[in-house]
Amino acid sequence: MDFKEVEKKVVENALNYGKQYNITIDQDFALLKLYEEVGELSQAVLIHRKKSRPEKHLAEEISKEEVAKELADVLGMVMVNAHVMNIDLEEAITKKWINR
Ligand SMILES: [Mg+2]
Repeated sequence: MDFKEVEKKVVENALNYGKQYNITIDQDFALLKLYEEVGELSQAVLIHRKKSRPEKHLAEEISKEEVAKELADVLGMVMVNAHVMNIDLEEAITKKWINR
């Protein structure tokens, strides 16, 4: 799957989530949800590094998988943000990170 295909599927899933739970996926929702996912990533990393309450600790491979899931959530919400702001994310990444 290329970048645009991944983006399309992620956005479709987000819009279906919105329909399912009667939530409008607008710019405010997308940005706040991105922050929520960044928070979840922080929590997952703290747990993975055993810098959380001991009762939250998980086996190494499981906590790493949780970090991977939250990274995916952050990236997915970045894609949703680009969509609701009508921004070509592939072009923006190419300009900002590749063709500097
Ligand atoms: Mg999450």
